[in-house]
Amino acid sequence: MRERSTRWTRRRFLHGTGLASVLGGLSLGRTADAAIAQTIRDAGVVADGIYANLGVRPLVNAAGTYTALSGSIMPPEVVAAMEEASRQHVSIGELQAAVGQRIAGLLGAESALVTSGCAAALTLATAACVCGTDEEHIKQAPDTTGLKNQVILQKSHRFGYDHAIRNVGVELVEVEGSDQLSSAINDRTAMLFFLNVAEHEGAIGREEFARLAKRSGIPSLIDGAADVPPASNLRAFIEMGYDLVAFSGGKGIRGPQCSGLLLGRRDLIDAAYLNGSPHSNSVGRIGKVGKEEIVGLWKAVELYLQRDHAADWRDWEQRVEVVQRAVAGIRSVEAEPFVPKIANAVPHLAITWDATDLGLSRAEFVEALRDGDPRVEVRPSRSDDPKLEIGVWMLEPGEDQIVARRCAEVLATAAAG
Ligand SMILES: *Cc1c(COP(=O)(O)O)cnc(C)c1O
Repeated sequence: MRERSTRWTRRRFLHGTGLASVLGGLSLGRTADAAIAQTIRDAGVVADGIYANLGVRPLVNAAGTYTALSGSIMPPEVVAAMEEASRQHVSIGELQAAVGQRIAGLLGAESALVTSGCAAALTLATAACVCGTDEEHIKQAPDTTGLKNQVILQKSHRFGYDHAIRNVGVELVEVEGSDQLSSAINDRTAMLFFLNVAEHEGAIGREEFARLAKRSGIPSLIDGAADVPPASNLRAFIEMGYDLVAFSGGKGIRGPQCSGLLLGRRDLIDAAYLNGSPHSNSVGRIGKVGKEEIVGLWKAVELYLQRDHAADWRDWEQRVEVVQRAVAGIRSVEAEPFVPKIANAVPHLAITWDATDLGLSRAEFVEALRDGDPRVEVRPSRSDDPKLEIGVWMLEPGEDQIVARRCAEVLATAAAG
């Protein structure tokens, strides 16, 4: 109740100040923002807490589930489950088996393992295909001499996280097209890998890849880390025939930030478990998960499946509209909603402007949002083009108003200057 009225007050307050600043000559800078922040603090809306104590300034996440921005925020039910799990000791083996069975049951998979992230799931999956359950082989990795130690993938599916696969000491064999794939397969091939977000960047699509893998008898792994929502993906890749499927637990599923999910064939999941924590002499031991993460991810998956996904979507669209309306009408500014095709496939807003006309570069816009109070972070970009992408799905209730106000202030100030 208290929380609710606080949010309401804050939203009303920010709405008011936002309006005032836009009307008030548009010359507000850092000082004004600091003054606004002080007023909010005086009103007791922003409480002192752990982060304030550390001098670490929290941020409004208008980017998305970026690990560097601390990913996602867990629903209170997940935090409560983790808190409850934290109070007693259990056997990690028994807990992993029990939770794995529950999650597998929910998602139509044979078996499942909670990992410390999707990257860890990639390492464990690879280790399972290379070392299996053989104790000596598990100890030997990442030296893979004498073992099947090649992983085949399409050239366009090389990516930053393939380091997690290479950690097992395998050689990545790049192919283009199904003919090259077939002829690359040999008796040292341990695994075939598909990166879901690169679905449209290779000659072989995900369904054909799964079929080719099935026919070859080589285990296949697909990385769908950031590809929930849609919720249907949690089942789709298993149904397509992938032997192993990896997801992040701390992205769209909103489980513990240090959690991931490996789904698939029972024999391979059993092997993945033996290649990681709590087994000390294994390549995956660095990706430890505790009882809290194991229980937390189970709870998060359960909750996620129960959500009204259509209602979530409408809510995200409304947030996009709030920001779009706030910047519409500012000179030379355009704002267009968009939905990425794969990965983070939820409503976003792209804001573009004439950098010369407004005398505002992308970097300056990003800095102004970062330096403001509250601090706002938007999607990172490799390009300096005058374009800002706003992700709204990780915003807490009411924060869309803050993002709208700050974006409008920065643009309007530039337009007035
Ligand atoms: C985020 C991401 C990962 C890593 O996931 P973590 O859960 O942070 O370990 C791996 N692959 C892709 C495609 C990702 O987007």
